[in-house]
Amino acid sequence: MRRKLAAGNWKMNGTTISLTEAENLAKAYTSPSVDLLICPPSTLLSRLSETLGNSPIATGGQDCHAATSGAHTGDVSAEMLKDSGATYVILGHSERRDTYDEESEEVRAKAGTAMENGLTAVVCLGESLAQREANNTLDIIGGQLAGSVPDGATGENLVIAYEPVWAIGTGLVPTLEQIAEVHGFIRERLIRRFGEETGNAIRILYGGSVKAANATEIFSVADVDGALVGGASLKASDFSGIIDALE
Ligand code: PEP
Repeated sequence: MRRKLAAGNWKMNGTTISLTEAENLAKAYTSPSVDLLICPPSTLLSRLSETLGNSPIATGGQDCHAATSGAHTGDVSAEMLKDSGATYVILGHSERRDTYDEESEEVRAKAGTAMENGLTAVVCLGESLAQREANNTLDIIGGQLAGSVPDGATGENLVIAYEPVWAIGTGLVPTLEQIAEVHGFIRERLIRRFGEETGNAIRILYGGSVKAANATEIFSVADVDGALVGGASLKASDFSGIIDALE
């Protein structure tokens, strides 16, 4: 049985005051029936981890370098994330694939390093609108999945996030049938590659304009094991509406 996961991606948002939102969330969920995760900007990671203390809410990075250390100005290593209290790291988000031309091969290398350092990699996959309109969605997702996920993935060290690029931050959401088709396809590919037990243990999140108002119906779709949430994770009051729908 896969435990559900509600993951918040704060992106490049948040300063000290934002820790209050996490505190409010920690007060509201002292023993949630689902896993909770906040991925703040790296400037807040240590303080957020300390603020959350013994709360069941986990923290994560939004990226890490594939190398363990060295001359990589501006980058953050998996070991540094771990040292800051993180247990997860988001990798291959479409904003990084797009802005920094991150290819799946690089995402795979980063995920391997993250796993070696004891982090759970949240590997993001998603098609653009042009790719969907050209009927290439499953080809794109299949290629990104095969290319971005390292060997040795398990239900503990890997989470997949299906995030159609055209749904991120736009208010547009795929139909439930479209979500079901892609999640079912990812599940089938995971089982084919890692075997029945591991393939069924890896969680698959949906991401893209999830909010309290649409969360319940999205979570009713088979193989949707939770959500990766951007905008609606910034305020505890918004995020809790999504968490409640998952619990
Ligand atoms: C995201 O960036 O991962 C995301 C899903 O954003 P939003 O929820 O704002 O669409």
